[in-house]
Amino acid sequence: MYFWCSKCFRAFSSVEEYPFECYFPDCDAGIYDIKTWESIQEKNPSLPEIPQQGKVYPPQNR
Ligand SMILES: [Zn+2]
Repeated sequence: MYFWCSKCFRAFSSVEEYPFECYFPDCDAGIYDIKTWESIQEKNPSLPEIPQQGKVYPPQNR
């Protein structure tokens, strides 16, 4: 599963079905800040289906 953090805007993969916190230790995002990559990619079809680990993907909903 791939996820996206709405606080640090980075993508990461996790074996967990739903991570409780951001993958990156320097980010204090919690479970409500983590979105599935699927839901992000659905709204922004220009994004890749598989995100790069640790890459920043700025929010594109304006
Ligand atoms: Zn984060």
